[in-house]
Amino acid sequence: MTTWIVEVLIMVAMETPAVIKSYYSKRIVGCPGGEGEDEHDVVWFWLENGKPHECPVCAQNFVLEVVGPGGPPDGHGRR
Ligand SMILES: [Zn+2]
Repeated sequence: MTTWIVEVLIMVAMETPAVIKSYYSKRIVGCPGGEGEDEHDVVWFWLENGKPHECPVCAQNFVLEVVGPGGPPDGHGRR
C-alpha cells in the first residue's frame, strides 16, 4: 500500500504544465497529446490568461503566458 502512494505522488509531481506564450490574453491551443501511446487526435480549446486548462483527453495542463500587450485577440485595440 505504501508503494502505491509513493508512485502516485511521483506521477503528480511530473505533471508540469505546458507554458503557452501568447501575444494576447487568450488564444486557441491544440493539444496533440504526447508521443507514442500518449498521442491523440488534436483537441482545440481556448486558453485564457490566469485560467489553466487541462486537456480532457490526456490530462496535460496548459498555462498561458502573455508576452504581448494582452487584451482580447479580436478586440482591435478595444481594451
Ligand atoms: Zn491532450
